[in-house]
Amino acid sequence: MTLTRRAFTTTALLSGASALAGRWGSTAAAAAQVTQDPATPLAQYKVGDATISAIYDGVWERPYMANVIANASVEDVKAALGKAKLPDAFLTLPFTVSVISSGDQLILCDAGTGGQVVPTAGHFMENFKAAGFDAAKVTKILISHCHPDHIYGLMEKGSNAPVFPNAEIMISDAEYKWWTDPAVFNKLPEDRKPLAQRIQAVFPTWKNITQVSGEKEVAPGVSFVEAPGHTPGHRAFLLASGNAQHMFSNDTMYMPALNVAHPDWLGAFDQDAATAVASRRKMMDRLAADGIAVSGYHFPFPAYGKIAKDGADYVLTVEKA
Ligand SMILES: [Zn+2]
Repeated sequence: MTLTRRAFTTTALLSGASALAGRWGSTAAAAAQVTQDPATPLAQYKVGDATISAIYDGVWERPYMANVIANASVEDVKAALGKAKLPDAFLTLPFTVSVISSGDQLILCDAGTGGQVVPTAGHFMENFKAAGFDAAKVTKILISHCHPDHIYGLMEKGSNAPVFPNAEIMISDAEYKWWTDPAVFNKLPEDRKPLAQRIQAVFPTWKNITQVSGEKEVAPGVSFVEAPGHTPGHRAFLLASGNAQHMFSNDTMYMPALNVAHPDWLGAFDQDAATAVASRRKMMDRLAADGIAVSGYHFPFPAYGKIAKDGADYVLTVEKA
């Protein structure tokens, strides 16, 4: 990754490229500090017989929160960002939705920001369409957890109308029950209450949401993987096709520079930080031992890599997919 923004270009994979470039260009002008916009917003690779399309939504240069890591100083956090060649004036959180094309299934792993989280993100749908996909043909949407950057792409701004009315939306029963419990408001900080209000106003009225228990297979070769901590019912997704496997870890390790290199750091973004540490160590041990490649929702685009052990810690090798 570079510290200066590269010009946005298109590839033969994209149609409707000029409209895309024009809109992207105006957004970029308004946000000159964006550091992680990829040269192209689409990368595709195979896992067995399945094709994965990594589709970029945008980036959040998030200001530091108080105690972003409870057991590390901001100086140590900045040093870790520097080691990963990231700017240290803010936290760089790109958003990438992984799309699985397998047999008759078209599956999204989370839904993008829907342009409702930060002005420098919200490009998923235009990039999805430019890659030749049709929202009406999405068969399933797997939701890792209910933070806004993962679910606001399901609903239109203002009306909350469903963006994917034909898709089955699959979410862990633990996550669904936690956010739709009337008592959740007593457990949430003030700034998270509007999120729970929106979820409670919308999700129970939709007929196309399925609650998933445990590590059930939800489509041929696609299973939920329990990875709680970031939220109570956070899940990852494992794809197996032929002899190949691929993990969509989503926010199990949300920022490689922090959570992969320093797995024991207790993050302010994790609702139960100690449980999140246990989940990410368990997952990274599995990925390293079995050589399974991984996609993370906030990894540097194309959000793809391999995990290896590095003493008591881990390292993410970013391979161009
Ligand atoms: Zn997230």
